[in-house]
Amino acid sequence: MDKGPQSEPAAADLPPQRSGAPGIHFEKVVKRFGDNVVLRELDFTVEPGERVTLIGPSGSGKTTILRLLMTLEKADGGVIRVGDRPLSHMEKNGKLVPANEKHLHEMRKQIGMVFQQFNLFPNMNVMRNLTEGPIRVLGLSKEEARERATRLLDMVGLGDKAEEHPTRLSGGQQQRVAIARALAMEPKVLLLDEVTSALDPELVVGVQDLLRDIARQSDLTILCVTHEMHFAKDISDRVLMFDQGQIVEEGPPDQIFGEPSEQRTRDFLQAVL
Ligand code: ADP
Repeated sequence: MDKGPQSEPAAADLPPQRSGAPGIHFEKVVKRFGDNVVLRELDFTVEPGERVTLIGPSGSGKTTILRLLMTLEKADGGVIRVGDRPLSHMEKNGKLVPANEKHLHEMRKQIGMVFQQFNLFPNMNVMRNLTEGPIRVLGLSKEEARERATRLLDMVGLGDKAEEHPTRLSGGQQQRVAIARALAMEPKVLLLDEVTSALDPELVVGVQDLLRDIARQSDLTILCVTHEMHFAKDISDRVLMFDQGQIVEEGPPDQIFGEPSEQRTRDFLQAVL
């Protein structure tokens, strides 16, 4: 396994700025797992192009928020919108009904997600991990998809790994492939779920720096869950402190980390910093 130093991508190699990223809106969203009420009428908004980080105790529901956006889970109440499009609507009998499949498909195409455990396709080499979605879902030709993949692999510093099998890469390299794979779909919203928690400590900073550069140089709407507070500070316009199903406090990183106003935030930060 190659765990050597990973090169920083040059800023000039990053994708060009695009406009028109949608915002994210949660309105009175309720999510339960059996008796466990994970989200309690949760309200929050991420503005178009804004970079927001969710922090808070483990098990408080942060990943569930991202999974709801990816439609990997269904809400039990309230409305979630990406741009002006709801993921579901309430019928007269109070039942929450998912939007139609075509609509959900269009919406999912706008959202890229990077997971803690990389979730690369294990039976495909790196190149196919990046080209499969663009060919099958976006309808790109094989050549177009390969061209896009090559550009993105160069960007994440893995131009020489296209034919490699993911299991032969280090964790940091696999996560770079996962980031490139998400970007290959040209999403407008990027969800980051504890993207460095499964990495060896020496690989963490390289992946965080890459994401920070992507965040700063694109106009993606980003919703990030992390327990790495310096990364949260680095990547975010705004930080939401989340606990027991609701937002406890929110503000710019300097305020949340420098002078939090809520005791729960102070206790949490003291425990993790
Ligand atoms: P966080 O990301 O803040 O650590 P999660 O969103 O992963 O929290 O989990 C929130 C709560 O929901 C936890 O109590 C967890 O056990 C529960 N939970 C998450 N997913 C499921 C599931 N598929 N089935 C049952 N309980 C779940």
